[in-house]
Amino acid sequence: MTRTTVTRTFDPLLLIAHNPGPMTGSGNNTYLLAGSDGSATLIDAGVGEPRHLADLASALSDRGSVLDTVLVTHGHRDHAAGAPAIAAAHPDASFHKHPWPGEDALDDVRWQSLGDGDVVRAGDATLQTLHTPGHSPDHLAFWHEPTRTIFTGDLLVLGSSVMIHWSRGGDLGQYLASLERLLALEPRRLLPAHGPAIDDPQAILTGYLEHRLQRERQVLDALGAGHATVQAIAESIYDGLAPSLMPAAQENVRAHLEKLKIERRATFEHGRWTL
Ligand SMILES: [Zn+2]
Repeated sequence: MTRTTVTRTFDPLLLIAHNPGPMTGSGNNTYLLAGSDGSATLIDAGVGEPRHLADLASALSDRGSVLDTVLVTHGHRDHAAGAPAIAAAHPDASFHKHPWPGEDALDDVRWQSLGDGDVVRAGDATLQTLHTPGHSPDHLAFWHEPTRTIFTGDLLVLGSSVMIHWSRGGDLGQYLASLERLLALEPRRLLPAHGPAIDDPQAILTGYLEHRLQRERQVLDALGAGHATVQAIAESIYDGLAPSLMPAAQENVRAHLEKLKIERRATFEHGRWTL
């Protein structure tokens, strides 16, 4: 057991990664935790955008801190690709994430392995690592128990839904279990990697779970109506969706179908999905 001493102010500094785009919305959030001993930890690495690096350098200089740790929630490019640029500018920093063989090799940086239950120091705070797969196989969240705050990476985005990219390791069943796990911790504040902070976690998490169940009912209804391919099911559910967003919708439908298959509620034979 770690004994929690007096809780110092816990005030993660939001540093935006300056990478807005169709898949990242207004861009990524990264969070800096600077300690009273001059150490500092950054959560998520962004993409190496020079303005992000400049903001990071000036925040560290304002606090008289040296970056010693970078924790990355998962290997998707908008969270991890900035690691080599940060490593070049901050040679004392070590880089930590859950292993994702193949994907991790894309980064010219030496990743150190983090797993479920690992406890990491971040500034004056102590964070517990939660392995929360589903959006990606390597996804981590970081739990600050004294303030009941969770850094949630890509598990939730306020006002939007999260991509479950089945063909790149996404798993809907695991994702829902990860949301249930967050809910069970009874957090007070979620700090996501996209969009604003979430101050009513119970309502948002419950809403997310309900949304997926509703989507699942739509997939079952489409199968019942005789739609037998991912494309046909996606077109029946996402009627009128912009063509540019249809590939993402199909990934979501596929993730639902694979979950139903595991649960023996749908079958796939001779190229056709059926109930
Ligand atoms: Zn992601």
